[in-house]
Amino acid sequence: NHDFDVISAARNWRVEASPAFLPNHVVDELFARDVLTLEGLKARLSKPVYKSLQATLERGETLDPGIADTVALAMKNWAMEKGATHYTHWFQPLTGATAEKHDSFVSPTGDGQAIATFSGKELIQAEPDASSFPSGGLRATFEARGYTAWDPSSPAFIMRHANGATLCIPTAFASWTGEALDNKTPLLRSTEALNKAVTPALRLFGASEGTRVGSTLGAEQEYFLIAEEYFYRRPDLVMTGRTLFGAQPPRGQELEDHYFGAIPDRVLSFMTDAEMQLYTLGIPVKTRHNEVAPGQFEIAPIFEQSNVAADHQQLIMQVLRNTARKYGLVALLHEKPFAGVNGSGKHCNWSMGTNAGENLLEPGDTPHENLQFLFFCSAVIKAVDEHQDLLRISVASASNDHRLGANEAPPAILSIFLGTELTDIFDRLASGEGGRGAEAGLLGLGSSVLPPLPRHAGDRNRTSPFAFTGNKFEFRAAGSSQSISMPITVLNTIVADAVSGLTSELEARLTRGQDLDSAVGELVKDTYARHKRIVFNGDGYSEEWHREAEHERGLLNLRTSLDAIEHLTDEKNARLFERFGVLSERELAARQEIMYDQYFKTVNIEGETTEYIAQTMILPAAAGYLGDLCAVKTLSRALDATAGEVAGLTDELYDALQVLRQQNSALGGDEMHEKAYHVRNHVLPAMIQVRQAADKLEEVVADKHWPLPTYRQMLFVK
Ligand code: ADP
Ligand code: MG
Repeated sequence: NHDFDVISAARNWRVEASPAFLPNHVVDELFARDVLTLEGLKARLSKPVYKSLQATLERGETLDPGIADTVALAMKNWAMEKGATHYTHWFQPLTGATAEKHDSFVSPTGDGQAIATFSGKELIQAEPDASSFPSGGLRATFEARGYTAWDPSSPAFIMRHANGATLCIPTAFASWTGEALDNKTPLLRSTEALNKAVTPALRLFGASEGTRVGSTLGAEQEYFLIAEEYFYRRPDLVMTGRTLFGAQPPRGQELEDHYFGAIPDRVLSFMTDAEMQLYTLGIPVKTRHNEVAPGQFEIAPIFEQSNVAADHQQLIMQVLRNTARKYGLVALLHEKPFAGVNGSGKHCNWSMGTNAGENLLEPGDTPHENLQFLFFCSAVIKAVDEHQDLLRISVASASNDHRLGANEAPPAILSIFLGTELTDIFDRLASGEGGRGAEAGLLGLGSSVLPPLPRHAGDRNRTSPFAFTGNKFEFRAAGSSQSISMPITVLNTIVADAVSGLTSELEARLTRGQDLDSAVGELVKDTYARHKRIVFNGDGYSEEWHREAEHERGLLNLRTSLDAIEHLTDEKNARLFERFGVLSERELAARQEIMYDQYFKTVNIEGETTEYIAQTMILPAAAGYLGDLCAVKTLSRALDATAGEVAGLTDELYDALQVLRQQNSALGGDEMHEKAYHVRNHVLPAMIQVRQAADKLEEVVADKHWPLPTYRQMLFVK
């Protein structure tokens, strides 16, 4: 009787192996096939032009407009050889998604013919209609123009679809007055801030061959797959990306049989297809596996330079979504598609590296290298402690609220897991046990006083939001659907701040005549002593930790996104972003406004979808079943009792629905933040009441009457 059919949900897929991806095609050949790499450009440009372009790419110099036409021509020819008919400036507006507007290479010549053109001007700059993207008030209505500008540090690539291909040019997006309207611009600025802050520190240590510093990032993406057949029967999934209704299935993840389990054939075929496409885009995907929840999976690439990693992360999401459809599946990237089942995150593995390939968070072999490592490591500790609020804000969204602090994801409280070995080393340094200066060797690190630094921290702590994992930090609070740009922008900026502070102190000590080793030793010791409250190696899910963190250590606990967003424009933060040239006060205020706006809209859509489903699908289902029960003059106590139960729950649903309806139409105020608080304080709780009644009904109403695919179907039929 359902509109949907479990059997067809399970069967509705064919292997669509594309000939290009047959197994005999070695990955080497595919990798970056659709990317215009530096090598590729070099082959198509004259030496002087290439040299000039290289200066832009490698030394961050501004692009010489004189070479733009030549570069554009080379790009166009390459793209057309690859079958591209169109090009697009590919950018990342503050919706968190990507945007593209395609233009054909074809230009009419006026005599009934057409030729393919693509000028330097078209490469460097374009003008999308900025009024259709969130600007947070940066764009006055009388000046709606915005422009996209080529980011030559992220390579152009070809996006293929069934009937053709498009040249995509990564770009930044700004208002006509130069204010950032996207996620890429602040990320690029923060990378430069990090470079400016860390390079001088590196020079003090003297050993590095690198001349530039940037951050590196590898993001692990979690997602769910469900049969397409179910997806389109669930208006909540279609409208909001998560289920707003659904009783718990008899079986959840308690059997622990899914994590790292054998990957079903259909899913593996999908994954392989997606990976092959990602390879052609030059995205180094490396691992895939089943995640903890039934129907949940993960894909992770090898780390790259942050700006490129952020672009690639967007492409990973896009390719996952598109490819799933070929297999009769839908990829759900929402942080919490199913209540009561693990949510999805996006772990951001972050480090700092030089252009000579050195990882500054890699403990070294020599005491000297270790000194440098401890310096940068303590800078990260200082940064996270001083800017807990910013890290929390960088992952704040209506959808991530369902995950953070829900005992299956890192808590909303920021802390750092260092692992026992590293903590021990810092503790010993702080207590003076490690000795310092000449008498104990270099901080004692070379002597037997301290154990050697762990090359690869073996211990794991999945409950920590920010963990040291051997040669990088893993920020685990980021949500599965979000752009990673904001978290990296924050990390780059706060670490730039901490490093530049510590570097000044170090320089002051050196000027006073202290030697490098003991100066760094004391600095690390003092820094750790000041910020060790942020270090916590225990269970981040536990009640005790929440108490201790808040009451004994004075750490921030910004429970919900709105509590966090409020602090974005705090004096401290405005000054920080301004000082490092990452975001002006106006840009910061605009971002805050957009965050409120997105929060409000997200919950508002959920509230209205809940109302609609309850009214037009669930109430009728309950009525239908009640009608069946009452249609027969019953002699059965069972039927009478069931009818009574259904009637009672139907009234409960109806009452809850009236409250929700009222809250949905109330506004809470004129200001965006007032509306956001209204939906959080009144709409969300009203939705929960409606859902509770509906979920109880799901457990009594005859299956044939139930209009929505259930958890037990969606999570288990593959
Ligand atoms: P683990 O098993 O400890 O999580 P992996 O080697 O699997 O470590 O790495 C997890 C992620 O961290 C991968 O995306 C990997 O590329 C990334 N990663 C490794 N080294 C770095 C680094 N120096 N900077 C940023 N990310 C890194
Ligand atoms: Mg990991």
